[in-house]
Amino acid sequence: MPTHIDRVDAKGPLHGGGNILIVDDNPQNLRLLITILSAEGHKVRPAPSGAIALESAFSTVPDLVLLDIMMPEMDGYAVCQQLKAHEETQSVPILFISALDNIDEKLKAFEMGGVDYITKPFQPKEIIARINTHLSLRNVQKRLEHEVAMRTASEKMLHELTQKYDLILSAAAEGILGIDKQCAYSFVNPAAAAMLGYEPSELTGSACAAIWHPEYEKRLPFFDDPTATVDMKPIPDCLTKGCSCSDCPVHSSLKQGDVVRQKEGRLWRKDGSSFDAEFVSSPIMVEGKVEGAVMVFSDITERKRMEKKLKQLAHEDALTGVSNRRAFLERAEEEINRTKRYGHPAAFLMMDIDHFKRINDSYGHHAGDEVLKSVSRVCLDALRINDLFGRIGGEEFAALLPETSNEQAKLAADRIRIAIETASCPVDGETILCTMSIGIAMVQPQNEKSTRLEELMKAADDALYTAKSDGRNCVRVAST
Ligand code: GH3
Ligand code: MG
Ligand code: MG
Repeated sequence: MPTHIDRVDAKGPLHGGGNILIVDDNPQNLRLLITILSAEGHKVRPAPSGAIALESAFSTVPDLVLLDIMMPEMDGYAVCQQLKAHEETQSVPILFISALDNIDEKLKAFEMGGVDYITKPFQPKEIIARINTHLSLRNVQKRLEHEVAMRTASEKMLHELTQKYDLILSAAAEGILGIDKQCAYSFVNPAAAAMLGYEPSELTGSACAAIWHPEYEKRLPFFDDPTATVDMKPIPDCLTKGCSCSDCPVHSSLKQGDVVRQKEGRLWRKDGSSFDAEFVSSPIMVEGKVEGAVMVFSDITERKRMEKKLKQLAHEDALTGVSNRRAFLERAEEEINRTKRYGHPAAFLMMDIDHFKRINDSYGHHAGDEVLKSVSRVCLDALRINDLFGRIGGEEFAALLPETSNEQAKLAADRIRIAIETASCPVDGETILCTMSIGIAMVQPQNEKSTRLEELMKAADDALYTAKSDGRNCVRVAST
C-alpha cells in the first residue's frame, strides 16, 4: 500500500542544467537562444507559438520558461496566464523577452506573474546570468517545496497513526498504563482509568506506585484501619526516591528491560479498595535503550472467585458440605506429620452410623440423606475447632483430633456418640433417631507404625468393627 510519503514528488531538487522552454514565433530568435543556452548545459525545448508552448509545458513541466510577448494568435501574456492558472505549472518561473521597451509593458509582465523582463536585442551573457539566477532560485524553491511536502505527509501519517493507536487503546478491554523513566504515568487508557476509579487526567503525570506497588500489599493492615484517610496511605520510598524494589515488575522493566508476564497481584483503586489483577510489564525500547514501560492488566476477581469455588467444590462433600474423603485424608496426613514433628499424641476416629440401611428402608433415601447431613452437623458441633472431620464413605465419617491423649479421645468420642444418640432429625414430619459406633486408633509419635495413615485407618476400622460386634452405639479403642 503506498504511503503518503510515496505520493510526494520524489524527484526532489534540481541538479545540473535546467529544462528550459523557449517560446518565440521568430525561428531565428529560437535558434539563437537554443545555441546560447545549450552551450551552457541546459536542456532546451523550443515552441514557435503560444499553443505549442502550453502543450509542451503541460506534458513535461519545465524548470523555466523564456517567453516572447508579441506573437500572433496567442501573445506571451495569454500564455503566462494559462501557465499560472494550472497547479503543475504555476510556480515555474517565467522570464519575458520582448522588443517592447516601455515601462507599462514591463509592469504588466510582472503583474502577470513574470519574474524577469529582458529586452531584445539582448546580450547573451546577460540572458545566461539572469536565467542561471532564476534557475538557482527555482532550485531552492523546489527543495523547500519538497521538504514541506515531506513534512506535511509525515505529519498526516503520524496523525493517522496516533488516531489508530488511540482507537485501539480506547477499545481495549485491558487496562493499559504507560510509565516513564521517572516511574510516573505517561499514558492511561479509559479501561485502566475505569478499573482504578480515576479520571485518566488524574493519573497522567502522577507517580505510578500508588496503584499497584507491592509495598502496598505489605502494608495492607493499614488499609483495614477504618479511621485511615486516603491522605494517610503509606507512600513507598520508590515514589520519592526512585523505585528499587526487587519484586516490583515495572522496576524490572525500567531498570533491567525485563518483560514480566502474567504476574498476579493486587491493584488499588482511588477509594482505597483493591482487586486481584493479572499483569504484564514490558519495557519501551528506543534505539536499544529503555525509555519507559507499559503495564497491561486485567481484573481477575471473577476468575479468582471461580478458582476458589472450584477448589472448595473439589474438597467438599456435595451432600453434607464437610470435607470429602480425599481432602480429609490429605489434611489428616499433614496433621500426622505435624504430630510427629512436635511429639504430641493425636487420635484418629472412624465413625459409622448403626443400621443406616434400615433408615433408608423405613423412611426412604431422601430421609437417609437428611440424617447424613444432621449427623455431620452434630459431629462438627461436638468437635473442637482444630479437629479435622470428613465424610469418607456412604455413612462413614472420620475425625483426627490433634494433641489428644487416649483418655481425652475416649471422652471426645463418647461425647460425639451421645450427641448423635440424643439428637433428633426431623424429616417430613417424622423424627428420625440414630446411633453411631466409633473406633479409635491413637497416633503415638514414638511408634512409627501408628503414624502411617493406612495403618491408622485400619486400626481404627478394626476397633469400629469391635464396637459393631459389641452391640453398636459404643466406642472401642484399638490396642497398640
Ligand atoms: P451397620 O450398623 O453394620 O453399619 O449397618 P448399616 O446398615 O449402617 O450398614 P450397611 O453397610 O449395611 O449399609 C449402609 C447403607 O448406607 C447402604 C447404603 O445404601 C446407604 N448409603 C450409602 N450412602 C448413602 C447416601 O449418600 N445416602 C443415603 N440415603 N444412603 C446411603
Ligand atoms: Mg458402613
Ligand atoms: Mg453403618
